[in-house]
This record gives sequence, C-alpha cells and structure tokens, in this order.
Amino acid sequence: MAPAKPKAAAVAEAARGAGAKSARRKAGALQGPFEIAGRRVRRGERLQFELPMAQLYTQTPLDLTVEVIHGRWQGATLLVSAGIHGDELNGIEVIRRLRTLAALERLHGTLVLVPVVNLFGFLNRSRYLPDRRDLNRSFPGSEIGSLASRMANVFFGSVVKRCTHVIDLHTGAVHRDNLPQIRAALDQPGVGKMARAFSIPVIVNSGLLDNSLRSEAGREGIPVITYEAGEALRLDEKCVVAGVRGVVNVMRGLDMLPARRTRTARSEPYVANSTRWIRAPTDGLFRPLVRLGAHVRVGDVLGTVSAPFSSDDDVIPAPFEGIVIGINRLPPVNEGEALFHLARFGEVSAVEEEIVSHESVLEADPLYAIESIEDSP
Ligand SMILES: [Zn+2]
Repeated sequence: MAPAKPKAAAVAEAARGAGAKSARRKAGALQGPFEIAGRRVRRGERLQFELPMAQLYTQTPLDLTVEVIHGRWQGATLLVSAGIHGDELNGIEVIRRLRTLAALERLHGTLVLVPVVNLFGFLNRSRYLPDRRDLNRSFPGSEIGSLASRMANVFFGSVVKRCTHVIDLHTGAVHRDNLPQIRAALDQPGVGKMARAFSIPVIVNSGLLDNSLRSEAGREGIPVITYEAGEALRLDEKCVVAGVRGVVNVMRGLDMLPARRTRTARSEPYVANSTRWIRAPTDGLFRPLVRLGAHVRVGDVLGTVSAPFSSDDDVIPAPFEGIVIGINRLPPVNEGEALFHLARFGEVSAVEEEIVSHESVLEADPLYAIESIEDSP
C-alpha cells in the first residue's frame, strides 16, 4: 500500500487536476467546416476567394476578395469589413495588419475579412459608386436594382448573413477628420457589449439610418458596430493602431481569442447620447484653434472664419461644453458648412483624461512602428 500523501500535496494535486480539466474545457469543442458562398473551409485553415460582384463597362469583371480564417474551435463568426465608402482607407490597413497577427493561431470561431467592399469607389478614390449611390444606404440590396443595390445584395446575402457579428470600419467623409470613436445603436441586442469591448474612450450612441449595413444587419439579428477614425483618402497611424487593438479587444470579448495574460491599460469608454455639428458663421477661410479630442467649455473659441478682404476674424464659440470628435480640414468654407462635431458627455473631464491616456497607450504599442509618419507634414 502506498504511503498516504500529506494532505497539502494531495490538495495541490487535485487542484492541478481540476486546472487541467478547466483548461481543456476552455479550449472548447472542435468545429466542423465553414461554408460560405459555395466554398468550404476546414478548421484551422484560411481561404481567400473572389466573389463575382459586378462588371466594368469595359466588360472586365470586378470581384470582391474575401478571406476566411476558420479557427479550430467553435465560436462566433465575426465579419470585419472596410471600404464600403471607397475613399476610406484606414480600415483597409487595419484589416491588413489584423490578418497577420500571431494570436489568430488560437482563434475560436471564424474571422471573415473584407477589406474593400466598394471596389468602384476604391478605384475612383470616391465614397460613391459611379451613379453617385452610397453603398451604405443600399442594403440589403436587390438582384435587379442599381449597381449599388446589386453589389449590396451580393455582399449582404453571401457574406454578412453568414456572420454572427460585424465590425464595419469607416473614416470621416472627405475633408472631415474624426477622433477614433465607435458608433453604435446601444439599444440593439448584442451591440452594447461589442461597443464597450472595443475599449476606446468615445462611443456615440447613434440611431440607425435606413438601408445602412447597421440597420439591415440589425434586422437580421446580427449586431454591428462602426469604427469611425480619421479622414477619407488619408492613412492615420494612430487610427489604424487603435482599430487593430479594438477589433482584437472585441474578439476577446466574444471569447474568440484568449483573455490577456497580464493586466494592461484598457480604455474606459464613455457614451455620448447626443452630438451636434457647429457650422460656419460666414464665408471665408476657416482656421481651427482646437484639436480633435479637445475638451471645450461654453464660449471657448473653436476657430475663426475670415473673408479675404475682411480685417476681422469671425470667431466660432462653443455653444455647449463637450469633446471635439470631428473637424473639417478644408479651409475654404461657405456660411452654414459643418466645421466641428461636438459631443456631449456627463463627465467631460473624465473623457478628456481617457483620450489623453489612450493616445499614450497607442504610441507605446509595438504596432505603432512608423514614427516618421508623426513627423511628416
Ligand atoms: Zn464611411
């Protein structure tokens, strides 16, 4: 008969056994193949394929490139899409960096990546499709509609509906610069959890526009959040790094990736329930005097507008206390043009502090490698 083990050792051994069991449980069940648009991807495999989308009038076919990374274990199916507005580039770069992360070796569930949804816009460096239609107002689309409607139909029917969650990546429109922010309808099922998991300081609780991806996927029970960061036709390193980190954070929140081993800085998000555009008081050249992310109080001067022969500057005062979440970057303006996007928060000082600390976290991130971008004009 083996000698009885000392009690403490027996307890430790039992704990190790339980630990191993719970680790096995955490690893989860293996998953079967993933089927999408007539293709089949086996677990642990990655597949890139082309989905016929439209045809140019040169008779050249235009295909949508989709990449599926199918993890070994069961989990959510997350679509990360960008370029629905063809001139919005930061999201394309977010996806390019995301797809090479080593952490994807441990993926649970499935990651579906579509870096350029609006191929026409990307080619033409334009938000729109050739007939000036906005793809993000054309969902769910139709087989016999306009080009926008047909493209929306293929993307929505073959890709979006195969997914359980969506992160759609955007920037401001042309000449409009956005502080990195999440736009989400927080009253929709599953949306609040994703928005908070992204872990950036500003969430704008915004309603749903008809026929947008957010509203139509929401109707199908698929939660969608939109990441808005930077300016159309520009790459912005901080916006890109914040985007990659945010998508990874959401994947952790959905148990698609293991939780962090060490406690690292996470941003506490604050929700703005209302925002307002502040408009040009007159015609002339616009000069902003505050930065994106600035905390402004009632009456603070946000910027000026001056006509070429005017000896005075028309100042633009802040009509309420808030955070600047968007700025116009094109100086010639007409009276009434949108210049500053101002968001209201309950605790504005706390949001300001969070924005400052989030910026320093981004600069310290190993992904933030291209320092020269900061120094270039
Ligand atoms: Zn957009």
